[in-house]
Amino acid sequence: MPLDADHGWTRRNMITAAEIRELLSVDYVLSSDPRDRDGAPAERFEVRARVPGTAEATGPVLGTVGIIASVTEPFCSDCRRTRITAEGKIMSCLFSREEVDLLGLLREGASDEQLAERWQDAMWIKPKAHGMDHVGLDAPDFVQPDRSMSAIGG
Ligand code: SF4
Repeated sequence: MPLDADHGWTRRNMITAAEIRELLSVDYVLSSDPRDRDGAPAERFEVRARVPGTAEATGPVLGTVGIIASVTEPFCSDCRRTRITAEGKIMSCLFSREEVDLLGLLREGASDEQLAERWQDAMWIKPKAHGMDHVGLDAPDFVQPDRSMSAIGG
């Protein structure tokens, strides 16, 4: 994701979700994890060994693998994440350029209800996707936030 501190991310260097699945499918068969994704960032797959030279799986489930494909297969429409930065700012989206102050309110002695209301207000302005009103981390109107993922608390 283009949330690196040195802003060096490029689509050219990215591995797509389809490419990851293709690489794994050389030796394994992936099938959708039956558990509800429930808004989780990772799409989970159960992994079984592949019978060489076929599309067939063999043996028990070896484990699960999760692929977070926020660029090539965005899941923003199911996102209900919210974050508080180390400085007490609410961010409703990793790519949001708007932050809502919570710490100041807290230091003024606000009640739990006031804090909850501020947080709720912050979430009402949650962008639809990727900090904008549409998906597209390589769209012409996409602006990478100044903060890196590690500074946001991704
Ligand atoms: S880009 Fe924003 S809306 Fe999309 S999944 Fe990430 S935090 Fe949620």
